[in-house]
Amino acid sequence: MKVYADNAATTKISDTALNAMMPCFKDVYGNPSSLHSVGQNAFHAVRDARAQIADILNCKSDEIYFTSGGSESDNWAIKGTAELMAKKGKKHIISTKFEHHAVLHTLKYLEKNGFEITLLDVYENGIIHIDDLKKAIREDTALVTVMFANNEIGTVQPIREIGAVCRERGVLFHTDAVQAVGHLPIDVQNDNIDMLSMSGHKFHGPKGIGALYCKNGIRLPNLIEGGAQERNRRAGTENVPAIVGMAAALKEAADNLSENTKKLCEIRDRVIDGLLKIPSSRVNGDRTARLPGNVSMCFEGVEGESLLLYLDMVGIQASSGSACTSGSLDPSHVLLSIGLPHEIAHGSLRLSFCEENTLEQADYIIEQVPPIIKRLRDMSPLWERLQKERGNA
Ligand SMILES: *Cc1c(COP(=O)(O)O)cnc(C)c1O
Repeated sequence: MKVYADNAATTKISDTALNAMMPCFKDVYGNPSSLHSVGQNAFHAVRDARAQIADILNCKSDEIYFTSGGSESDNWAIKGTAELMAKKGKKHIISTKFEHHAVLHTLKYLEKNGFEITLLDVYENGIIHIDDLKKAIREDTALVTVMFANNEIGTVQPIREIGAVCRERGVLFHTDAVQAVGHLPIDVQNDNIDMLSMSGHKFHGPKGIGALYCKNGIRLPNLIEGGAQERNRRAGTENVPAIVGMAAALKEAADNLSENTKKLCEIRDRVIDGLLKIPSSRVNGDRTARLPGNVSMCFEGVEGESLLLYLDMVGIQASSGSACTSGSLDPSHVLLSIGLPHEIAHGSLRLSFCEENTLEQADYIIEQVPPIIKRLRDMSPLWERLQKERGNA
């Protein structure tokens, strides 16, 4: 059986999105800035896509700025707000310990350039305490940036409450909603959001396209100087096929949201319940305030990378929080942020499902994972030591 369960890393493009894109390569190939009919067709395609996305997020069309993806949107929102607010003497930014690196590394860059950063604790369940946020806000706080849903452990923050606190205290609020858009209901007005980052490839749209929602009235500095695209703020000829594909994918996700959520929660909960039967296993983060398709677990005495390789051999593609992307052996900052000790954080497994996954696949996972874990533990000196310490050996 083949089971792609790494949808938090990226998704397969949907037929709907692909079919919407094809004409943009062949017939609607004009430059949206050209005044002739071929250009105007492309202009209309971009305009309609923008309106469709704005409608789904409940904002105005001219509050949507197309970017190359989530990382760019995060960088623009955070660096832009920092520059804007520094002029008013505000150089303090609040975020959380377990943000995506697109946020954390941007904050690190700002810290080197004279900003003060406060990172809120996310506790064992992977959710901030509103009281901590209230205490952290100061006179000189320029921005609060808290992710909507975590990409590794899938926990969902109380975004509306966070936004309400920020409104009350007069602080701008940005959310990295890359894992949430297309997967959770979002209404930027009701949710008190000033800026929001999204990315097409996380909800069955194409890669290399995203958007930043920026509430009217916030004068973010231009990201790229040049032509007049994106209301003069981000120059460069629009990626028309990708913009159209992202809008089509989002529309499809929004139309099927409740149906998909129901199905995904069923798959998720079946897998979690099934894998929890493995001794010395645990779920990372809150069990209910979590993305419908996210399973994040740790298995003691197991090396996450080895587990992934064995799973791939039986047709299951997953991910591990301890991915040593930079060649380092440090476990994921997300798993450490919820208080897991290093040796447990190393044995992590993330399965992220989409609506194409099935309950049969869930059962296949529940059947395949335990013997692999047993085999890895049988070879593990760490497991042997743990068993001895507990008097099990
Ligand atoms: C994937 C992801 C990003 C980066 O988005 P790209 O479009 O790949 O740049 C940022 N934040 C979160 C939470 C993500 O999951």
